[in-house]
Amino acid sequence: MMTPRLRLQPEALGVGMTSQRVRDRLIERLREGGIRDERVLNAIRTVPRHLFVDEALATRAYEDTALPIGHGQTISQPWVVARMTETLLEQGMLEQGRPRKVLEIGTGSGYQAAILAALGIEVHTVERIGELLRVARKRFRSLGLNVRSKHDDGRAGWAENGPFDGILVTAAAPALVDALTAQLAVGGVLVAPVGGSGAQTLVRLLRREDGGIERTDLAPVVFVPLLSGVLG
Ligand code: SAH
Repeated sequence: MMTPRLRLQPEALGVGMTSQRVRDRLIERLREGGIRDERVLNAIRTVPRHLFVDEALATRAYEDTALPIGHGQTISQPWVVARMTETLLEQGMLEQGRPRKVLEIGTGSGYQAAILAALGIEVHTVERIGELLRVARKRFRSLGLNVRSKHDDGRAGWAENGPFDGILVTAAAPALVDALTAQLAVGGVLVAPVGGSGAQTLVRLLRREDGGIERTDLAPVVFVPLLSGVLG
């Protein structure tokens, strides 16, 4: 489980500003930022983030910053990806024998989904912008990652494939979306940014054995908005 299931061709290994040394520096920054889970750090060290942005931005891919991916959207900051992934793993996502199922809303570049898939998680991801999803699917294919994806408004979740052991929402809404919480398995965890365009909070919801929901606020974050409808 420690070795991400990735097919790494020469371009994925990187040179210069995308080299292993540059990636290791990002891992150090994430540690300084309080990320402790070695499985998460290892996945971030291995998944080539520079292949999830435009070539012109590749030299900045290992900075701890969000970057534009077109259509007014961004690839999330590595610290945020690490924190969200760590929150899932804290709930024993990798410890129970069977592959665990995670739903991601907002595929974007595909980077967060790739990190989850590299950890051995069964990933289902939904994106409303068709063009972004097409590019992300190419990335999954060329890295040999098995990710299920669909072009849709993710606010409805993906009920046919649920319930999910984990749900990550990677775009912000003013309030938690009930349809998504409803697709959370018992013992499952949902992580989502909640709030308007200024201040958002990363929130964790846990579905307890008795069906009740426990909420914890994790950190202030900045995400693009969760929007309705689909674009081609
Ligand atoms: N997880 C992405 C982050 C992308 S930014 C990554 O790792 O790169 C958020 C994404 O959410 C954008 O691509 C945006 O188009 C998408 N999005 C916003 N509202 C959505 C909705 N209702 N359903 C599905 N995707 C949505």
